[in-house]
Amino acid sequence: MQYYRIPVTLIKEYAYCPLIAYYKVFLIVEPPTESMMYAKEKIDRSLVEAKLRGEGVDGEILWSIPVESRRLNIRGIVDLVVVNGFRAKVVEVKLITSRRSLWKRYRHHIVQVVAYAIAVEETLKVVVDEAIIVPLERGGMVRIKLTPPIRNYIFMLVREFEEMVRSAVKPRGTIDKVKCKTCFYKKICSLALNNPMGNHGS
Ligand code: SF4
Repeated sequence: MQYYRIPVTLIKEYAYCPLIAYYKVFLIVEPPTESMMYAKEKIDRSLVEAKLRGEGVDGEILWSIPVESRRLNIRGIVDLVVVNGFRAKVVEVKLITSRRSLWKRYRHHIVQVVAYAIAVEETLKVVVDEAIIVPLERGGMVRIKLTPPIRNYIFMLVREFEEMVRSAVKPRGTIDKVKCKTCFYKKICSLALNNPMGNHGS
């Protein structure tokens, strides 16, 4: 399968569980979940902007910006970008419960916002020094410095994803069984588990 540009959301899914991305590309697309719709429809923009200003984030706030990166071959729509001259910060609003979970089970959100940041640099011709995740409800925001290692990690993930699509070889699934409990594809995966040719990651 050939994409014109890879949706950043697919890279995010790949980071969460490579098998979900595989199923989305080769089998069936999952309908939007309640949390996906909740997160986008219930955003209180003035609250998010107040949180950013309260943390000293200055600049022009631009919402729902389409971005793409030719280098990474990705595209998407970022929740918001704060532009200050030739510098910018990239922000995603998420339903997250804790900072700790964001660096563990939900680190795919970090992958998404950093991938957007790289695409923002190419699209808006700015330097992005920071990616920020703002919780939809309670809790403080999480600020991520765009260091070379984290940028390289995103490049590696995208290349891995492209290789999966090119080869059509089924990747291993997550070993985190908690993720499987709420997964749209769990029935397909449990069939794979009972199939000696299957390669479920658990
Ligand atoms: S059931 Fe688990 S391993 Fe299978 S696609 Fe879902 S999250 Fe991944």
